Amino acid sequence: MRYFEEQPVPAQHLLEALSSGIALIDDCGVIGDLNKRLAAMTGYELEELVGQNIQMLVPPLQRDMHVITRREYTQDPSTHQILLDRDLTLLRRDGSELSVDFSFSQLALDDKSWVVVAIRDNTAQRAAEDARIAAEGHTVEVETAAAAALAQSEQRFRLAFEGNMAPMVFSDQDGLFLAVNDAFCRMSGRTREELLGRDSKHFTYPEDIGISEEVYRRITSGEIDEVRYGKRFLQKNGRIVVAEVSMCSARDEQGNAVYFVSSVRDITEERALAAQLSYQALHDPLTGLANRALFDDRLVQAHARVLRQGGLGAVLLLDLDDFKGVNDAYGHLIGDQLLVTLANRFEEVTRSSDTLCRFGGDEFLYLAEGLTSPLEAQQIAERLLGTLTEPFVFDRVRLQQRASVGIVVWDDTGTDIIELVQNADAAMYEAKRQGHGNIVHFTPNIRHEAASRFSLVQELHLAVTSGELLMHYQPIIDLSTTEVVGFEALMRWKHPERGWVPPDVFIPLAEQSDLILELGAFALREAVAAASSWKPRGGRTSSPYVTVNLSARQFHDPGLVAMIRKELDRNGLEPERLILEVTEGVALVDIAETMNVMEQLNRLNIGVALDDFGTGYSSLSYLAALNPKIVKIDQSFVRPKHDKERSDTLLEAIVTLGNKLNMIVLAEGIETSAQLDRLHNLDCDLGQGFLWSPAVPIEEATTMLRRSSDV
Ligand code: C2E
Ligand code: MG
Ligand code: MG
Repeated sequence: MRYFEEQPVPAQHLLEALSSGIALIDDCGVIGDLNKRLAAMTGYELEELVGQNIQMLVPPLQRDMHVITRREYTQDPSTHQILLDRDLTLLRRDGSELSVDFSFSQLALDDKSWVVVAIRDNTAQRAAEDARIAAEGHTVEVETAAAAALAQSEQRFRLAFEGNMAPMVFSDQDGLFLAVNDAFCRMSGRTREELLGRDSKHFTYPEDIGISEEVYRRITSGEIDEVRYGKRFLQKNGRIVVAEVSMCSARDEQGNAVYFVSSVRDITEERALAAQLSYQALHDPLTGLANRALFDDRLVQAHARVLRQGGLGAVLLLDLDDFKGVNDAYGHLIGDQLLVTLANRFEEVTRSSDTLCRFGGDEFLYLAEGLTSPLEAQQIAERLLGTLTEPFVFDRVRLQQRASVGIVVWDDTGTDIIELVQNADAAMYEAKRQGHGNIVHFTPNIRHEAASRFSLVQELHLAVTSGELLMHYQPIIDLSTTEVVGFEALMRWKHPERGWVPPDVFIPLAEQSDLILELGAFALREAVAAASSWKPRGGRTSSPYVTVNLSARQFHDPGLVAMIRKELDRNGLEPERLILEVTEGVALVDIAETMNVMEQLNRLNIGVALDDFGTGYSSLSYLAALNPKIVKIDQSFVRPKHDKERSDTLLEAIVTLGNKLNMIVLAEGIETSAQLDRLHNLDCDLGQGFLWSPAVPIEEATTMLRRSSDV
């Protein structure tokens, strides 16, 4: 008869009688019960340990391995032996460590499985062992060395895992975390306790759970051995961490994947930076619209779609009319504000399937898809222009802006993608040529003209050196004496095939490059030489002067003053006999800079004439500040095309103003004696116009001068 069968003893008594510490722990490592011996070994009160995780008795460096082995054991109790061979310690309440042996056994109670852990203080045994090893000498030393090497490599592994800057995690077949290092805790924003025994689903960004599970399925099924993939974690505080996870499987001797090691790289900042960079690479920083690169990309796709699926696509190029004038008159800040507001207005009428892009400067591109007729492209253009009806108001500046649009429509017949933007540009150019605020659809003829403009620029380069350029001179008349007091030098191009090309055509082309500096230098050289040949005659005391037109690039060219001085010296021309003509726009680009250049010219005694006055944006205060020697009233006031009365009032106002400011007032484009009389009555000082003569070659000008002074 067995004793306990007859004499049932409460389990508690038995437990307390044992020399080992005993703990009953559940699947998650939570202590269900323990004996007093174990409590004594740890230095805790028994009650303090019940309900705690057994982890608290494991030194930090061993915790992860502990979790791994405990799980291994619960799944496969044959791993038991491995555990016993290990050098284990128990973490006591006071922080000291106790050398112990462990043994495990499984116990099923009321459908719940428990692990019974027996823990034995083996300090004495260890000491004896050490002594024995010391006595046994060499052979044992070898064994010990092997054991030590193993222990050392395990230690190294632990350090590599624990101390690793990279977040690392061990997980099992089900994706449950067996071990995590500090870096992983930090990255996930959770404590070790919150992580162990759970899977990553709990803190994976919801949209990425699918990816995560798929990867897990493939690696646990053995389909792949290792994998690198991207996913997002959700920290406790809601912050999203973008991570790159490298995962590999560790296999047992039979080749079964036992657990999985993942190393995680937090690439949140990298991604953010990359996203920012790619945003910057694809968007215009001022307006936030797509830039050319993004537009090109969309265009390639849209072009291919039309080829594949049919239908029509369209590219619209919109260019503001005289945006430069706005910049010149009100500064770049207002110019920028205008562009941003415009972009917003355009965006409001942009269809969601279309792309709006800032092409550069004041040009916008619009890509439209899924059209059924060119008429729809026209309607889009009208909608875009319609947004300009409402004036733009910034601070106290009120602007009425207009724009020109070029449209190119393509279908599935294979228009070359390269040509699309070029053709839209050619159509836009044509729209501008026809007057502002126009919409023009591209036709092959337009391209022909664009090509001819292009070749004109090429030929203009050659014209400078081949003697096709020359200066003609238009007399300037003193309205009270009708004497010729000077000439305006106007450039002429005699093209071998095209004949006379007007400066209105070739000067703007030259202004698009440094070519204008060459042309400008040529004009100055010729005009100064011409003026030096005109001597005073008859009763007049002062010699005739020459006026030379300067374009913006020249006026702001730092070498301008030196170049002029050189030409004057070389020809022995008195500086007061040279007058430089600048338009209001040119003068107002940068008012401080303009004053500075004018000051330098003033010191040299060279006068400035404000050309085409009344057509730009200049205000009266600018006119007074710039204080030019001559104001040239634009032809449109002298020969008004419409609203004659208003122009006449303005003409009178400008002449009076110039006189009051002690400037010489010159009226351009006088063609009839009626116009002359009117100006004379208004007290206008000087005049120019076909009434006397158009611009003529130097010989004729000289003859004219001689005749005029002979009078
Ligand atoms: P601008 O400086 O205002 O020159 C006056 C223009 O009016 C000249 O045209 C002249 O021939 C024309 N004109 C003069 N009197 C009359 C008239 O009674 N009736 C009419 N209908 N027109 C008249 P042009 O020579 O064709 O020059 C056009 C513009 O080209 C000039 O306007 C000037 O802005 C520019 N330009 C001409 N030569 C040069 C140059 O050497 N350098 C620069 N930068 N620009 C130049
Ligand atoms: Mg002029
Ligand atoms: Mg003019």
